[in-house]
This record gives sequence, C-alpha cells and structure tokens, in this order.
Amino acid sequence: MLIVPEREIADLMTREAAFDAVEKVFAAMASGNAYNFPVVREAIGHEEALYGFKGGFDQAGLTLGLKAGGYWPNNLEKRNLINHQSTVLLFDPDTGKAKAMVGGNLLTALRTAAASSVSIKHLAREDAKVIGMVGAGHQATFQLRAALEQRNFEKVIGWNYHPEMLPNIEKVANEAGLPFEAVALPGLREADVIISITSAFSPSVMAGHISEGTHIACMGTDTKGKQEVEAELLVRANVFTDEVAQSVSIGEAQHAVGQGLIKDTDVAEIGAVINGTIAGRTSPDQITLFDGTGVGLQDLAVAAAVVDLAVKKGVAIEVDF
Ligand code: NAD
Repeated sequence: MLIVPEREIADLMTREAAFDAVEKVFAAMASGNAYNFPVVREAIGHEEALYGFKGGFDQAGLTLGLKAGGYWPNNLEKRNLINHQSTVLLFDPDTGKAKAMVGGNLLTALRTAAASSVSIKHLAREDAKVIGMVGAGHQATFQLRAALEQRNFEKVIGWNYHPEMLPNIEKVANEAGLPFEAVALPGLREADVIISITSAFSPSVMAGHISEGTHIACMGTDTKGKQEVEAELLVRANVFTDEVAQSVSIGEAQHAVGQGLIKDTDVAEIGAVINGTIAGRTSPDQITLFDGTGVGLQDLAVAAAVVDLAVKKGVAIEVDF
C-alpha cells in the first residue's frame, strides 16, 4: 500500500491536475460510469465532532474508495490543528486490497475549487470581466485562485458577513494583479460570475442581487439546513449541480425544491453539459447557477491523481500491508 502524507500534497498537486480530475469524474457520473455511495455523517458525541464517509466507484477511471473525516470545532484552539480533517483511502477495484492512503485536507480545498472552476468554464459567459466573492474564509481563497484561471477577469468584488476577513480575498486578487473592491450585497449586480462559499444557515444573496447573464456557483451549502442564496433565485436561474440527489437534499436546491418552487427535474448535472448531452448556457441573458454540494468521487479523483504524481516523484511511502 502507498501512503501520501498531507505534508507532500502541496508540492504534488496542481490546480490544473485537480481541474482535469474533477471535470473527468463529473463527466463519468453523468454518463453512468461512476456513482457515489450514500453519505454517512454523524455527530459522534465527542469533542462536538461531525464525522462521516463519502465514497464511490468510478468505473471509467477505476477508482474505488472513500474519504473519511469531518469537522472538529475545537482543534485549532486546543491543539493548533485545522478543524476540518480528512483522509482518503483507495482500494484496488479488481481485488479489494487497500491501495493507498492520502492526506485529504488540502485536496478537499483543491477539489472544491476545481468544481466551481469547472462550472465557470462550462456555464459562464465568455466575456465575463467582474468576479464577485461571497465569503472570505479558508475555502474562498482557493475558490478565487482557481476561478481567475477560467476567464479574463479585470476586477474582483467581494462581500463577507465578517468584513474583517475580506483582506483574505483581496490578497489573492492583488497577487493576480487585479483590483479588489468591497461591496454591499446589492453591489453584486456588477458581477458576471459569483462564487458563494460561506457556512450560512440563512440566505445573504437575494434574487434581486443578481444581474441577468450572471453565473453563480453556490459552494457553501453541503448540509441540510444550510442556505446561501434566496430560494427564488433558483426559479430565475437555470440550475446545474454535481449530483441531483445531493443538490435537492443537502445542497442549495433543498430549499427551492422543499418549498415547491422548482422540481428536482429542473436541476441538471454539470457532467451532462461537459459530455455535450444537454445544453449549458443558451443565451447571454440567462442566469446559470451551479449548486456544488461536494461528492466523494471528487475526492477519490484528486487522490488518485496525487498518488500517480507521488509515485512519479518518488515521494509515495510504500508499506507492506
Ligand atoms: P470558514 O470557517 O473558513 O469560513 C466561513 C465563511 O462563512 C466566512 O466567510 C464567514 O464570514 C462566513 N459566514 C459565517 N457565518 C455566516 C453567516 N451567518 N452568514 C453569512 N456568512 C457567514 O469555512 P470554509 O472552510 O471556508 O468553508 C465554507 C463553507 O464551505 C462551509 O459551509 C463548508 O462546509 C463548505 N464546504 C463545501 C464544500 C463543497 O464541496 N461544496 C467543500 C468544503 C467546504
């Protein structure tokens, strides 16, 4: 079995490799060659931790495995460890033997950023110039870095519930040579592309805050009860997702579907757009919305890619297991 420790991931994994792996696995999901197993997520009654498994099998890429981990809210304060902790385990689909164990913390941020980036590539207007960020936490910086590679953006605008965190994304914008402007929520109307990545349980972004022609990637809502955007926005928008079952149960669409504003059949898989079996954006005025809920197959795809890179660079640790 091969081990790729967390400390090696930053030097191995690139945004390009994460993008390719995620785009391919979304395509495989839509063509029926890859599927996610039901998600397990439990409050374990210890350290206030939420722990769970996300797994799946990609028959096209022959990737089988799971990501185990979750959220330990006291880690940072008590132990100077990050609160989100995860590990990916890969298995040989021919034999069931354990194949690799891979640090999943940085990979989670990279695969999540790759997902919104894939949605921007396939759904945003080609002439998009202004990108808006809603959220300025840990994930937001990864999201912005990846998104800036998809279009010739000229300006970054941002809003955050905790305004003192906005310098996190201002720094990323400035590193890319772009100006940054903090805006009030109605100011988001200037944006051609928006990414929301917050841990909110009630919506900040209202339907009226979004201009025609905008692509919005809603990336923060990955649990029942969370919500970043007003449900009405999903009525105005053409809605896409990584996986429909997750979108309508734990994603942003849970609210619009739950309130009877849209049906689950109104939510389309981004993989089908990638495969060309359904249309993505069909007019410059359309609002497109990507509900990125985060699927296990994304984790397995980037972990498999990083194992290959680790073997090539000779940094994978081999153990007899
Ligand atoms: P973080 O704690 O670093 O940042 C949280 C962000 O949410 C900050 O910008 C904060 O200001 C904002 N926020 C907090 N309370 C808010 C409120 N009431 N209203 C509006 N904004 C509020 O967290 P992070 O690691 O950046 O993760 C952000 C979210 O993304 C979390 O909900 C996490 O579960 C989710 N996530 C999703 C995926 C996926 O695949 N879709 C993957 C990883 C993380």
